[in-house]
Amino acid sequence: QHLKKYFTIGTDLFGHPTQYLKAVDDVSFDIPQGTTMGLVGESGCGKTTIGRTILRLHELTDGKVLFNGQDLAKLSKRKLRNLRPQIQIIFQDPYSSLSPRLTVGSIIGEAVSAHNIVPKSALKEYVLRVMKDCGLQPHYYERYPHEFSGGQRQRICIARAIALRPRFIVCDEPVSALDVSIQAQIINLLKDLQDKYDYTYLFISHDLSVVEHISDAVGVMYLGNMVEYGANEDIFNNPLHPYTKALFSAVPMPDPTVKMKRVILQGDLPSPANPPKGCKFCTRCPECMEICKTQAPEFKEITEGHKVACHLYK
Ligand code: SF4
Repeated sequence: QHLKKYFTIGTDLFGHPTQYLKAVDDVSFDIPQGTTMGLVGESGCGKTTIGRTILRLHELTDGKVLFNGQDLAKLSKRKLRNLRPQIQIIFQDPYSSLSPRLTVGSIIGEAVSAHNIVPKSALKEYVLRVMKDCGLQPHYYERYPHEFSGGQRQRICIARAIALRPRFIVCDEPVSALDVSIQAQIINLLKDLQDKYDYTYLFISHDLSVVEHISDAVGVMYLGNMVEYGANEDIFNNPLHPYTKALFSAVPMPDPTVKMKRVILQGDLPSPANPPKGCKFCTRCPECMEICKTQAPEFKEITEGHKVACHLYK
C-alpha cells in the first residue's frame, strides 16, 4: 500500500540528502492467495525495485507491505527471519545465483536445514522429493551447477525456493536469460507448482507474451508509477493507457489476420532522476494534452477492477 522507494543521488556538504531518484512512487496493489500478478514495463520503470522492496532487500522509504495482515516493513529482524522461508525470490540469472562449489543437493538442502524445515535424518529424502517436483533427476543430487544448462539451473533455483515451503514467490524475470524453447517449460513448471501448492506469485517481466500466459492480473509500470492495472483479459483485450497500447503494439502478432494499430513512441525514456512534470509519460505520449503537462493524472478505477492513470478517462 502506497509503496515508495527513493534512492538518494545527491547530498549537501553535511551529507544531508538533496536529490532523490524516485524508483517507486506511491504504488498500491493486492495479490490474492494462489494467483499471479504480472508486473511489466521497460527497464528502469521500478518493477524490480518493487519486488526487492517487498522482500526488504531494499528498505522502504514509505508505505506498507502487508503479508497475511502483517506489515513486513515493521517487523524486527528476528521476526522477519522467521517469516523469510514463506517469502522467496527466483532471480533472472540462474548462472550467477548458484554457488559453483556446492552440489545440487547441498544448494537445496542448506536453507532447509538452516530453517529446520525437516529433521536432519529426513533431509535427503525431502530434497529428492522437491527435486522430483521440479523435474530434476535423483542422480543430479551429487552434481554441480556448472554441469547443467540454463533451464536445468533455473529448475534448481526454483527447487531451492520451494524447498522452504513458501507462500509467496517473487519471480524476477525468471525466464529472460533462457532460450525461447526452454522458457515455456519453466513457465509451465511454475504454473504446475502453483496448482499443486497454491503459491502466490509476483511475476516481473518485460516480455508481454510470457506475462499474458501466466498472470491473473497485470500492472503496467512507467517511471516509478503504476499507470494501468487490471485482470489479464482487461489489460490484454482492452488496454486503456497510451503507454500500455504502445507496449502491446510493439509485440509481433502470431496471427496475420489480427491487425493492431502500431503506436510509435516519441523520444527516449526520460531520466527517473529528473522526470517530466505533470503526467510522466507526456514527453512521449501521442495523445498528450495541455493539462497533461502540468497535472499528474489520478490512478482511478474506470470499470470494475480496471484502473488507469490518464486524463483521457474521466
Ligand atoms: Fe498521455 Fe495525457 Fe494520458 Fe499522460 S495523461 S498518458 S500524457 S493522455
